[in-house]
Amino acid sequence: MINLVLFGKPGAGKGTQAEFLKSHYQLVHISTGDVFRYNIKNVTALGKLAQSYMDKGDLVPDEVTINMLEAEVEKHPGAKGFIFDGFPRTEAQARSLDAFLERKEMTISATIALEATDDELVERLLKRGETSGRTDDQDESKIRNRFEEYNQKTAPLRTFYTAQGKFHSINGIGSIEEITARLMSVIDAL
Ligand code: AMP
Repeated sequence: MINLVLFGKPGAGKGTQAEFLKSHYQLVHISTGDVFRYNIKNVTALGKLAQSYMDKGDLVPDEVTINMLEAEVEKHPGAKGFIFDGFPRTEAQARSLDAFLERKEMTISATIALEATDDELVERLLKRGETSGRTDDQDESKIRNRFEEYNQKTAPLRTFYTAQGKFHSINGIGSIEEITARLMSVIDAL
């Protein structure tokens, strides 16, 4: 089984790369942002709860996000592995994920961060906002707040996973194909 965590600030290319990796390695892709957006679109209780946080570019509370992630994993009992995209984003989420996977006799194989500069990411996100319809991609102050959330709450996970010998980082600037090749060289060496 291969279980991957993709890290990277908003716009780093996690979703784009996960699409390729999931078909190449036959993994189930779980994007917590996509699950939240699906729930908002369908006006579920979870969607209503998540919306106010997402609108501001704040993280949704851990307990809500952790329960949702576990439910998503449980939907795929026969999976060959998972790509966790946008989760974990806090140390509490990372600890819960470890405990949850351990109960299922699974483990994280590797975490990979896609690195890019803030200026490059703002440019990508504003461009994406023109077509995605995502309001959190259309306002530079919301984008900067998401970066701030990342710096404060998610960046410390580098230390967490380095301590487990599972942290990798790659240059996230280049063509989509170049970045895919960089990811594959990490995964194929596992
Ligand atoms: P994303 O699509 O990954 O950029 O996520 C969009 C938004 O969904 C984030 O700005 C958060 O409000 C929320 N979100 C997604 N994943 C998480 C998570 N693991 N923990 C808390 N909030 C999350």
